[in-house]
Amino acid sequence: MPKKNKIQKSKKVIVKKISPKKVFIKNQVFKTNNAGASIRQSDKKGKQKEFFKYTLLRGMHDILPREEKYWRPFRDNAVKLADHFLYRQIETPVLEDANLFIRSVGKGTDIVDKEMYIFEDRDGKKVCLRPEMTASVVRAYIMHGLWSLPQPLKLWYWAPMFRHDRPQAGRYRQFTQFGCEVFGSDDPAVDSELILMAYNFFVDLGLPVQIKINSIGATEERNKYISALVEYYRGKRSYLCDDCKKRLNKNPLRLLDCKQEQCKPIKDEAPQILEWLESESKGHFMKVLEYLDELAIPYALDHTLVRGLDYYNRTVFEIYPAVDGEMNTQGALGGGGRYDPLIEQMGGHPSFGSGFSIGVERAAQYLKQACEQQICALPKAECNVYVAQLGDQARRNALKLINNIRNSGLKIDYNLTKNSLKVQLDSANGLKVPYTLILGQKEVIDHTVIIRDMESGVQEIVEQSKIAKIIAHKLEKIDLKKKR
Ligand code: AMP
Repeated sequence: MPKKNKIQKSKKVIVKKISPKKVFIKNQVFKTNNAGASIRQSDKKGKQKEFFKYTLLRGMHDILPREEKYWRPFRDNAVKLADHFLYRQIETPVLEDANLFIRSVGKGTDIVDKEMYIFEDRDGKKVCLRPEMTASVVRAYIMHGLWSLPQPLKLWYWAPMFRHDRPQAGRYRQFTQFGCEVFGSDDPAVDSELILMAYNFFVDLGLPVQIKINSIGATEERNKYISALVEYYRGKRSYLCDDCKKRLNKNPLRLLDCKQEQCKPIKDEAPQILEWLESESKGHFMKVLEYLDELAIPYALDHTLVRGLDYYNRTVFEIYPAVDGEMNTQGALGGGGRYDPLIEQMGGHPSFGSGFSIGVERAAQYLKQACEQQICALPKAECNVYVAQLGDQARRNALKLINNIRNSGLKIDYNLTKNSLKVQLDSANGLKVPYTLILGQKEVIDHTVIIRDMESGVQEIVEQSKIAKIIAHKLEKIDLKKKR
């Protein structure tokens, strides 16, 4: 049976597949992992009833605990990085005026022409589910006068995006991005700091990555370059793939994105944008690279890297998994760049902007693969102490005790649904906690608790009011021993 339609049946269950997406079950108890399953069951009178028909929309996905464990380290690291580099979080609505993206991301891009979830709301307004975040953040920056705050203003987000793309591996219709945007400075150090953050987002978890980088210059330089590119490609039109023929008229920079073999020799010989940059843009780019050299961040110059969106200028970059020092260019983990003209274009005072976004699904997938290949391991969720209880009275008292200990900053685990001490001690052993606190009826009456050293099995009785301090002291001693 194909995995998609796998039905795990229990005893005495008759399962009949009536179509790839329909299953027929008598006398129930079933599980299905087929998101599109429509299941019928006979009721007491033998009448058939369709009772489960919910399904995920194409390209959508649930993040279950088994996947979430690969997300959590990134979320924690995002918060840590943002705190260290002094970025502040911004949240904007998922639903926006569609023109916000049509004008900023630009007609002729795949996002606007093919992928936007765009519709009229009940007032007849053309709205869309945001396909990316930069335009929304720029809107907020202008609308709320964030330019009047001390600059550079550094913002970060962790938010869902929506693109009606063709679903495939690593490509969803709803996906999450972690991103950072910096406003109010055109200093190359800003671009390098952003690249450092994107780099650290992975490297802090032990995931090797590499940066692809290019400069697409200022708008006038790029326009001149585009004219030269079009002229070069026009002479070779008949050798181009169908997509490139369209790109030539609609969005010539995207010609450099083409992966088709037939276009490769033409692309290899195409004029390179760096030759069209004036000294100021070249100088800016050189400084970005110098910072990266100083930081020992591995990068590869790529003159064909232009990024798909209209609003970029100067620095553009993408981030890729790098296994054995080699760059895996199959799917970018993230990308970004400078977008200075966008703020004025969207009605703000002229200013500067630079940012990046990383796809969390792809990051989590990379972490999962790297853990499976033992390139890295998930960070351990360390627990300091386990609380075991015996009897109703102890259980009532335990929750209060647990709360007090937690308030003191210790990491604590417990299971109030279990009664057996053996089962609870097994759990404590599984968590490898150094100490378990045992609370029985006698201890509740005496306001005491038993501390059990899990390694030696030695137990001592202490007052409940002193327990947090005593445990903290014991843990400090263990830490000191480890350091020696
Ligand atoms: P972009 O905004 O297109 O530069 O995308 C930045 C990053 O978001 C990409 O490098 C991917 O990691 C991620 N991403 C973009 N589109 C999708 C998608 N359809 N599904 C999952 N991740 C995506």
